[in-house]
Amino acid sequence: MFGWLRAGRRRRWLAEPFPAEWEAALRRHVKQAEQMPVELAAKWRQRIQVFVHETSWEGCRDLKVTDEVRVVISAYATLLVLGFDDEWLSRVRHVLVHPTPYQGRRARIGVEGVDYSHGDWMQQLEDDVEDEHLGEAWIEGGTVIIVWSEVPTAEHLVPPGTNVVLHEFAHVLHELLSGWFPSACTESGESWLGAFQNEYGRQVREADRGRRSLLDDYAAESPEEFFCVATECFFERPSRMQSQSPTLFRLLKQCFRIDPTNWMA
Ligand SMILES: [Zn+2]
Repeated sequence: MFGWLRAGRRRRWLAEPFPAEWEAALRRHVKQAEQMPVELAAKWRQRIQVFVHETSWEGCRDLKVTDEVRVVISAYATLLVLGFDDEWLSRVRHVLVHPTPYQGRRARIGVEGVDYSHGDWMQQLEDDVEDEHLGEAWIEGGTVIIVWSEVPTAEHLVPPGTNVVLHEFAHVLHELLSGWFPSACTESGESWLGAFQNEYGRQVREADRGRRSLLDDYAAESPEEFFCVATECFFERPSRMQSQSPTLFRLLKQCFRIDPTNWMA
């Protein structure tokens, strides 16, 4: 879409007050909305308005995409980029919502866990057929798939610290930040990527020893999955991460340019 056309549409949407039903959905389902500082909360609602309007939404298997579904998914997606001015999420143009976990082969190139250096990678894809999916992010196509029953709400019971929306959109952000990771430095002047890889190495060692860690075991799958699983925890259980994994917490705080402990005790 032309920039000026989009800017004009956005101005019209943002001139409207945040709808009362949306506010109710946010308050009812998204715990991050309870204590967010006023200024940031206002910015968040604007991002939600834009994302709801600019995204094409599609329900799969008879799921009706209601305003409640749109607002809750948009709230988590935009939470991730509240620390940024860039409108990175405009890279996502379609959101598909499945009611419950679905089975199927991941058809995209670049799927996690597939080693293309081996001649049998097609076989690896075949092996993936029976996998049960909770979500996917197809960055090139601008599509994210979300399983609604796995999204934290007042009605869905999901494991603490997990959030499929944060996870899938973290994949999108990972792609967009891939140029930033190698050049960023921590406060102590150490390479951000080096420090992050150390944390990943620790996660893998703990998983190998069969130790329970703050993060889901899936975090040991690859550095990218580690980033996405850690992102879920950073926004869902920030205080716990800050006390149990202070280095990882600091790295993510620097990356997201935001501190969720300011609104989640
Ligand atoms: Zn993932």
